[in-house]
Amino acid sequence: MKGNNKTLPRLLIIEFLKKNPDKRFTARDICNGINIKKGEAVKSTVYRNIDKLCNEGRLVKYKEPNAKAMSYQYSEGHGSCKEHSHAQCSECGKLFHIDNEVFADAAKKMREQYGINMDFQKTLIIGICNECKEKKNRFKRP
Ligand SMILES: [Zn+2]
Ligand SMILES: [Zn+2]
Repeated sequence: MKGNNKTLPRLLIIEFLKKNPDKRFTARDICNGINIKKGEAVKSTVYRNIDKLCNEGRLVKYKEPNAKAMSYQYSEGHGSCKEHSHAQCSECGKLFHIDNEVFADAAKKMREQYGINMDFQKTLIIGICNECKEKKNRFKRP
């Protein structure tokens, strides 16, 4: 049965995420961010919808450094998060959606030289974003 009670949380979640692009949320943040009556049943509906959105590639689920809970980020204008790789800043945890083109040459070399077929969806590049790099450089100065 498809009733309002089932579709409403999903719409609210998407609306909330769209309002906050490029931000990261835990499932709890999302629960707090959408204005629906609190209750265990509603909470599990929200969690189920979050999982569904992840499976559809509209949300990407990942772990931030030093965080206990998983974080989620909405993918708008980046295509499906199931079809591209991601890069994460090891300092601030910011997530970047990476175009497959970026890895096209690398993927070819991986296949030819190492016999590895890259799984773009599961590939996570770890680095330091420019912002954090600048911060670090600033601290280094005497
Ligand atoms: Zn993505
Ligand atoms: Zn950073």
